[in-house]
Amino acid sequence: MRKTDFLIIGCGFAGATFANLAAERGYTVRLVDKRNHIGGNCYSYKDDESQVEVHKYGPHIFHTNSLKVWGYVNRFSKFNNYINRVKARTGQKVYGMPINLHTINQFFGKDFSPAEAKKHIDSIRLKDIKPSNFEEFLLHNLGKS
Ligand SMILES: Cc1cc2nc3c(=O)[nH]c(=O)nc-3n(C[C@H](O)[C@H](O)[C@H](O)COP(=O)(O)OP(=O)(O)OC[C@H]3O[C@@H](n4cnc5c(N)ncnc54)[C@H](O)[C@@H]3O)c2cc1C
Repeated sequence: MRKTDFLIIGCGFAGATFANLAAERGYTVRLVDKRNHIGGNCYSYKDDESQVEVHKYGPHIFHTNSLKVWGYVNRFSKFNNYINRVKARTGQKVYGMPINLHTINQFFGKDFSPAEAKKHIDSIRLKDIKPSNFEEFLLHNLGKS
């Protein structure tokens, strides 16, 4: 029996990618995982009854700005064209997420430049709060509207 060049513990993205690249270069690899499936936290499966793709550990959206990486992952799976467009609603208004200059201007009904937006937020943030939770962190950094 040929010796194993690499024993890889964990078959998530990292382990699976390493195993594949090593195998393609002629090394022998043994890949083990304590779970009964591959894919790590990105694992998903099709529900038999509904045929819906279930993301067992939470939904995953693949991001890359590398054509090399994009080409690589497309060798193994077909990707759909889902684009993550997040909106948040407060009061009667809907805002684009993540927050950017446009969101700030939309929220305050202004036409701030980046420097003006920074100055405005600095003027309303609650500087004296020492944040001990997420709400206080936001009040300290952004203030109250
Ligand atoms: C809810 C959620 C949503 C996410 N959303 C996104 C997203 O939208 N986009 C994105 O890019 N990333 C997202 N991530 C992050 C992404 O899941 C991780 O970056 C990626 O899974 C990391 O891959 P990994 O191979 O390093 O680790 P993992 O995927 O965690 O794989 C590690 C594997 O090692 C196994 N293992 C660990 N210890 C042992 C052991 N002692 N013996 C045997 N096996 C072992 C585990 O069972 C697991 O299968 C999200 C993560 C979560 C939890």
